[in-house]
Amino acid sequence: MDLTFNERETAFRDELRQWLADNDPGEAPKDEDENYKWRADWQRRLAEGQWAGVHWPAEYGGRGATITETAIFFEELGLANAPLPANVLGLLLAGPTIMSWGTDEQKERYLHPILTAEEIWCQGFSEPEAGSDLAALKTRAVKDGDEWVITGQKVWTSGAQYSKWCMLVARTDTEVAKHKGLTYFLMDMEQDGVQVLPLRQITGEPEFNELFIEGARVPDENVLGGVGNGWKVAMTTLMNERAGLAFFLQVRLRQLLDQVIEAAASRGLLDDPVVADKLGDLHLRAEIIRLTAYRGLTAIEKYGVPGPEGSLTKWMWSDTNQQLTQFAADLFGPDALTSGNEWAYELLRARGNSIEGGTTEILKNIVAERVLGLPRMARGN
Ligand SMILES: Cc1cc2nc3c(=O)[nH]c(=O)nc-3n(C[C@H](O)[C@H](O)[C@H](O)COP(=O)(O)OP(=O)(O)OC[C@H]3O[C@@H](n4cnc5c(N)ncnc54)[C@H](O)[C@@H]3O)c2cc1C
Repeated sequence: MDLTFNERETAFRDELRQWLADNDPGEAPKDEDENYKWRADWQRRLAEGQWAGVHWPAEYGGRGATITETAIFFEELGLANAPLPANVLGLLLAGPTIMSWGTDEQKERYLHPILTAEEIWCQGFSEPEAGSDLAALKTRAVKDGDEWVITGQKVWTSGAQYSKWCMLVARTDTEVAKHKGLTYFLMDMEQDGVQVLPLRQITGEPEFNELFIEGARVPDENVLGGVGNGWKVAMTTLMNERAGLAFFLQVRLRQLLDQVIEAAASRGLLDDPVVADKLGDLHLRAEIIRLTAYRGLTAIEKYGVPGPEGSLTKWMWSDTNQQLTQFAADLFGPDALTSGNEWAYELLRARGNSIEGGTTEILKNIVAERVLGLPRMARGN
């Protein structure tokens, strides 16, 4: 892709810069619930300015931004130190999946409240015995008239405590091959059959949850992409997760790296060859991730859906973020490990990066088999 800006792109950037200058998100509240409300409010303001879904087509309330404009958008958000919108799973996962597979009624019903953060979404895929091997999931959906009755357990459901809707994959047929018996549902979380129990992470915050589903009801019209087609629909969500989230997160990586460079400079450490060498290496990695994320966006523009290359960006990002936060801890010494310190949080939170959104081992398998075309690994050996 061509990374020099034409007149239209420069105008887009200037308009966004002005908007960001006029709409300072302010200081992030420390309390988790307050922080969440603050990010929801930020997303509402983005939506009012028509900036919430720049990459969404205009017919669905987005700006229909080109790839370069989308890249400018993310970079400028990073420069402005703006927070992630509250409904990040709605914007990056649920929205694009509904656009790809939804009926006109579903698009009309669900897309707008995603943009405005009026309705928050969570992702109900993983189960206690089905993570990497998603097709092994056991949550059952049984037809009862024109409704489905859902029973089972999900785990690691991020943001479920704030969510109105869940992208839920459940088993509707036990007689066929395991990935053929799945169906993708849009499940209302606000019902008696759904219980959300928080799980506390190493950072101390309950970012994700267990979901106990006991006879929850989902009407027929909330099946997405057809009964028995859940595997394909779920793959659309996962490809969007890896490509889209990696783009958001590479901007965050750059912010963190700039903070480390600044802190090293203020301690007079930039002339230390070990520090300079590591910072140079991290800078190079951050640039490679940025440019690879652009390539991912180009694939979306060309083919309409993200390709398996998104797995590469997600893998490189998690690896680099873990190295960066470890290096920051080495650099700042015990200061970085004091409870409540931002770097202690970043260091601990980064441990989950190589698990969430697909583990590094699984991503390596995808890159090997689907990007490089290497022979499939013999399963069970
Ligand atoms: C911060 C965070 C947020 C999350 N949010 C959500 C969410 O919102 N919704 C949701 O549904 N899930 C979520 N998850 C769950 C996440 O998707 C799973 O943890 C992940 O898919 C791995 O599944 P698992 O934990 O069951 O590990 P397992 O699949 O049991 O894997 C255990 C280990 O075995 C390795 N392994 C497994 N299979 C293979 C293989 N074929 N080849 C090589 N190695 C293999 C894995 O890499 C891993 O190291 C979240 C996880 C984290 C950490």
